[in-house]
Order: sequence, then C-alpha cells, then structure tokens
Amino acid sequence: MEVGGKLPDKAGAPFCKPCADDRKSVTAVKFCAVCKEWLCVSCTDYHRRLKATRTHTFLDKDLVAAVTQEENQENRFH
Ligand SMILES: [Zn+2]
Ligand SMILES: [Zn+2]
Repeated sequence: MEVGGKLPDKAGAPFCKPCADDRKSVTAVKFCAVCKEWLCVSCTDYHRRLKATRTHTFLDKDLVAAVTQEENQENRFH
C-alpha cells in the first residue's frame, strides 16, 4: 500500500469513488446521496443513464462540504 504521507483535505477536492476503485485519481464533482459516493463528471453521467441509479440524488461538492461540517459539529455533542 502506498502512502503519500498526507491525506487530502476534507474540504478540498475529493476523488471519484468508482474511478478510485479502478486505480484512477479523478477529481469528483458530485456526491450521490444514495450511494454515498463521490463521482466524477463521466461517472455522474453514467449514473444518470443507468436504470438502477438514474433516480439517485446528486449533491454539489460545495454543498456536501458544508453539510459534512455541520454533521461533524453535531457529533461532538453525542
Ligand atoms: Zn447513486
Ligand atoms: Zn469516475
């Protein structure tokens, strides 16, 4: 396993999950709220076309960053 030393910033650019599984580092642009996965442009496009996943809701990267931060704050109180 290769470790570069630094993990990408949470608020920075996430990588597409399906592409990462394929050993490719592609910057994600959307987050699927159903799969809970990051998707790049082409994977988002594919996701929209597949019958099984076409109804899934996508969240914008900026929006997810904001939501994730809120969740983290909430979790501190539990
Ligand atoms: Zn999905
Ligand atoms: Zn992808």
